[in-house]
Amino acid sequence: MRFKTTALLASLLAALGLAQAASAQEKVLNLYTARHYQTDEALYANFTRLTGIKVNRIEGKEDELFERIRREGPASPADVFLTVDAARLQVADDAGLFAPVKSKAIESRIPAQFRDPEGGWAGYSYRARVIAYNRDKVKPEEVSRYADLAGPRFKGRLCVRSGGHVYNRTLVAGMIHNDGEDKAEAWARGIVANLARDPKGGDTDQIYAVAAGECDVAISNHYYYARLMASDKASDREAVRKVGIVFPDQKGHGAHINISGGGMLKHAPNKESAVKFLEYLASDEAQAYFADGNNEWPVVPSVKLGNPQLQAMGKFKVDRVPAGTLARSTPKAQRIIDRAGWK
Ligand code: FE
Repeated sequence: MRFKTTALLASLLAALGLAQAASAQEKVLNLYTARHYQTDEALYANFTRLTGIKVNRIEGKEDELFERIRREGPASPADVFLTVDAARLQVADDAGLFAPVKSKAIESRIPAQFRDPEGGWAGYSYRARVIAYNRDKVKPEEVSRYADLAGPRFKGRLCVRSGGHVYNRTLVAGMIHNDGEDKAEAWARGIVANLARDPKGGDTDQIYAVAAGECDVAISNHYYYARLMASDKASDREAVRKVGIVFPDQKGHGAHINISGGGMLKHAPNKESAVKFLEYLASDEAQAYFADGNNEWPVVPSVKLGNPQLQAMGKFKVDRVPAGTLARSTPKAQRIIDRAGWK
């Protein structure tokens, strides 16, 4: 028995040696990414330019990629999984998909709020959930808090995407953390009561609906608005002229933010490339790509912003609840959303 184990181990080591020899010829990184932003291309190309490591990218929907990694198990070629939303990262971590990465470069550059304390995953950029309002019909002071959107003033005037979408689910998770479950549920019920139409479309559609007069207020991630600000389309510029945004709760907990991030997979065949890649994502250069490419804020505080849209939006108070804490409240948040009937 013992001999068999040793023999098996020896053949495994030999196979590993072969794999290493192959990777010495051509270093690769197999990246599974659910980030749906075309501008990420430049981010990966720059990594290859700097390190010589070729990036094989598999794109897919968040949940599909998660299932795929799980199904592939130890045979998975995936080295790094990138996705958006803290809860998704935590779910992947809880399922045992990630291997902890101990890296001084990552720990010293990315604030603890944006990382798993055990090193399973880290956020590399963040986005704020903002309130969009019709400049002619609503004063920004009327929507200075998320709570305002659930008040009687906005009955029949609100547009928002589905409650089950992670952007909204994680927003409710933040409210559970800050105000407790009862208040979070009352808020979700207020949102449903105020809807101008059944939830449909993505965040940009909600902004367009405000511009078109279908509703007066909406909820959106900030970068969708930033994209309209930078758009060459006359209709997008017109939408920005009609619609303003507010970073909510500046006198309270601060605007809700979520992260986009990732981690190294437990069965990653190219662990060295994976760590290099994750460290690269925390570098000044890559951080600037997040800002310039998708109008997201870099998590590394010292990175200088060259993005005119983000600069125009200015500084704001960020809700400091740790991403991991948010993630743990999302199942509760989903139950609240279901009870409130926020489809
Ligand atoms: Fe998005």
